[in-house]
Amino acid sequence: MLIDTHCHLSFNAFDDDWKNAVKRAQKKDVQMVCVGAARATSEKSVTIAEESDGVFASIGMHPTHVLDEEFDVAWFSKQARNPKVVAIGETGVDHYHLDEARKGEILAKQDVLLKQHLQIAKENNLPVILHTRDGKTESTGEAYNHLIRVLKEFGYYKGVVHCFGGDWETAQQLLDLGLMISFTGIVTFKNASESLREVVKNVPADRFMVETDAPYLAPEPFRGKQNEPSYVEHVARGIALIRGEDYDTLASQTTKNARTFFNLS
Ligand SMILES: [Zn+2]
Repeated sequence: MLIDTHCHLSFNAFDDDWKNAVKRAQKKDVQMVCVGAARATSEKSVTIAEESDGVFASIGMHPTHVLDEEFDVAWFSKQARNPKVVAIGETGVDHYHLDEARKGEILAKQDVLLKQHLQIAKENNLPVILHTRDGKTESTGEAYNHLIRVLKEFGYYKGVVHCFGGDWETAQQLLDLGLMISFTGIVTFKNASESLREVVKNVPADRFMVETDAPYLAPEPFRGKQNEPSYVEHVARGIALIRGEDYDTLASQTTKNARTFFNLS
């Protein structure tokens, strides 16, 4: 059994096919956390979770939506109490998809948005799912530094940095704060960077999880296709290969990590 800790069945790419995607995952003994990125996709994530066995929801607003809609704290706080909601997010910092001319203003708004999520997570004792992406002209790791600064200002570290793409030094900083990291199908790509492989090799067995980030980032041998939770096995196999570990041991360890982290029963 595996747990895809980050997929977006609530996105338009799946439309009504999310039911079939869930069935294909169930056939492979894969459970999942369906992650919202704005109010509508969070609402749909909760619906999908309520209607499906082995599917849980995370609700939040992605930093790239910071100018698109007002973050409705009351609505998200109320939804956070739904027993199928196991995390808050995804949220975080994104230096990539923004109007460079308004960068300072937008990043300041992302800080506020992130802290609002941390507050809801803290109040409900839920973990938070964190996104980071460096700007086009920035040196590597600026978004991670930004994330770490905001987390330290607020002081809540029950979280996972999803789709981790930083170096080992950055990973260690996050782990030292108490955060988890998770890996996507990028670990299966032939051109995966040496620094990512180093992180995969070095991260302690109880500090990482696997995810698809479906519909994006399909792992090999499905690279380029629409991703889905049933493919998460290939992410786990890619990690086992890099770490030189037995697949079954790794699969049960990462499942245990996810169960503990999201408090799944
Ligand atoms: Zn995502």
